[in-house]
Amino acid sequence: MNTGEVSDQEVAGLAYGVFTLPGGHRRRIGVRLGTRILDLATLADAGQVPEQLAAPSLDAFMAAGPAVWNEARRTVTHLVVDRWPVAKSAVVDTDGVTMHLPFTVAGYVDFYSSLHHAVNVGRIFRPDADPLPPNWRHLPAGYHGRASSVVVSGTEIPWPSGQRLDEGGGVSFGPSRRLDFELEVGFVIGTCSTFGEPVPIDQVMDHVFGVVLVNDWSARDIQAWEYQPLGPFLGKSFATTISAWVVPLDAFGAVRVPGPAQTPQPLPYLRRHHPWGLDLDLTVKLRSAQMRARGLDPVTICRVGFAEQYWTVAQQLAHLTSNGAPLRTGDLVASGTVSGPGPGQMGSLLEATRGGVEPLPLPGDETRTFLQPGDEVILEGQGGTVRLGEARGTVTSTPAARRRAGRHGPRSRRSSC
Ligand code: MN
Repeated sequence: MNTGEVSDQEVAGLAYGVFTLPGGHRRRIGVRLGTRILDLATLADAGQVPEQLAAPSLDAFMAAGPAVWNEARRTVTHLVVDRWPVAKSAVVDTDGVTMHLPFTVAGYVDFYSSLHHAVNVGRIFRPDADPLPPNWRHLPAGYHGRASSVVVSGTEIPWPSGQRLDEGGGVSFGPSRRLDFELEVGFVIGTCSTFGEPVPIDQVMDHVFGVVLVNDWSARDIQAWEYQPLGPFLGKSFATTISAWVVPLDAFGAVRVPGPAQTPQPLPYLRRHHPWGLDLDLTVKLRSAQMRARGLDPVTICRVGFAEQYWTVAQQLAHLTSNGAPLRTGDLVASGTVSGPGPGQMGSLLEATRGGVEPLPLPGDETRTFLQPGDEVILEGQGGTVRLGEARGTVTSTPAARRRAGRHGPRSRRSSC
């Protein structure tokens, strides 16, 4: 019987994060309760929840597997619904707390699973050819990204520099002129798999702990020059933002969908046995430095559904392990940019502005083709009544502008090395 202290919606959307209290040093695992946090470190110290939740990150808890995840979820739900006086003593306000990267990112893989995104991008880069590469409907295309630059929501994003092909045909090194975001959904691996042993598609989701939003920041000019022949590299690896809150996969049980029909039928190891599409509604908001100075709210520049992703996460993970490469606790597996077919459904500026040709109007007299220094990008998402954690980031001024201003680098919450 819910005492009403915590809404059913908050209970359904329990999500895990790692925080420090104002002035505190200990990193604590917490559960999101609306605008409050249930401090599991206190409860774990008191033996009320599984011991892995006393740790400074989710790593040990994620590695412990579904039995421990389920026990923790049952225990936390019981505490907030039936034993509120006990839970209440461990509730803290989010004001002043600092959120941290919730787990150690072991590896980062980015897929390319939105048919609309692949077609939109193909039409921009290859207007006279079939927008889809010949392999696209046969395998979930992906690449291995950089785990070391995955940062938690709220971290400032340093403006990247790199090699670019200039309009006159020369090659130069300097700040990107085509900085972009990518709206993506990320799946976080909990339990590892065995080296050399492919994980069958009907078992692979047992390894998935939870879901985050991902902004795969992209420097399109660096990317366009470097990507042949080996694919994305420094145009992507400078930063990737994930939400501070990891929503357990189980929380989205009510919004599972089969995914769109596939032609041709995939090879046997990729055939869907269970509905692992997720009916999520995703949003991108943008706020420029000028909008912030004028006190304007962020403006919504994209609304798109996730249910129509051509390849499901189960298919992606079956493919990822099909050669025997193991899953590792903390692997981040992202969907690729999520876009729809219509205007207002574009998960990147590359698509929304057709390659920088059609500027996007912002409030006031501003427009955007690609990002400008000081722009803030906010990704939000929801599945049924369950909210994903937001993934928010502001791109800093260019390195040259920072030097002129006498700053040695962005003040940020990046983990130190
Ligand atoms: Mn991407």
